[in-house]
Amino acid sequence: MPTVPPASSFHWPEGKHCAVSLSFDDGRVTQVDHGLSILDSNCVNATFYLTPPLMEQRLEQWRFVARSGHEIGNHTVTHPCTGNLEFTRTNAIEDYTLERMDAELAQANAIIEDKLGVTPRTFAYPCGGTFLGRGETAASYIPLVARRFLAGRGYWEPYPNSPGVCDLAHLLGCSFDALPFNQVKALIDRTIDERGWLILVGHDIRTGDWQGVDPAVLTEICQYLNCKTDIWVDTIASVAEYVRGVRSTLGHVRKQVT
Ligand SMILES: [Zn+2]
Repeated sequence: MPTVPPASSFHWPEGKHCAVSLSFDDGRVTQVDHGLSILDSNCVNATFYLTPPLMEQRLEQWRFVARSGHEIGNHTVTHPCTGNLEFTRTNAIEDYTLERMDAELAQANAIIEDKLGVTPRTFAYPCGGTFLGRGETAASYIPLVARRFLAGRGYWEPYPNSPGVCDLAHLLGCSFDALPFNQVKALIDRTIDERGWLILVGHDIRTGDWQGVDPAVLTEICQYLNCKTDIWVDTIASVAEYVRGVRSTLGHVRKQVT
């Protein structure tokens, strides 16, 4: 029977009412070419989930990013998603087994360790998919992620995590690609009200892209977060580490979920 601590007993660090993490997927070149200067000039550390083929296109810059307070995470090697999507039809998650996925997770970690000198502690599910195989042999690979990583992040979930009860191996990730600032602000304000943990997910950092965060919006977000001193802004690994620690100290008051 799964157990969780009572949500109400969770507490953020002194003076903080919630947490926000910014994350970017795939290792797209616009992240280092346009995004990094915005994040760094606002002292915002983000989490970057890299795939090795794109990482190779800006290897020196990613080495710098890995040493500068940002987090580098695992996003598989080949980025398998549902075969319903044209770009991944020949590498469909429906054709994967748990053994194949586990080997690929290990391979991606080994490549990042070799090229960047850091070991990924968290993972982002490509396209947000957590199942592999099909029909009677379909299976969740969340347990694989739980065994290998401190945390796993999903995608397309438009609300914050509740830190007292969320599954660290399947954290909710909220897309902020192509969103105007006022919509992101509404998400942040809701997170403050709920004392939650908002994880934003972006891809490219450029104007006019349905899968990209506008650089001007990213700047506004960073400035807004810096004005709100009760928001803890940090990488997914840092916040997950804290959440795990608090929940473990609350273990003596855990209640059983029925
Ligand atoms: Zn991706």
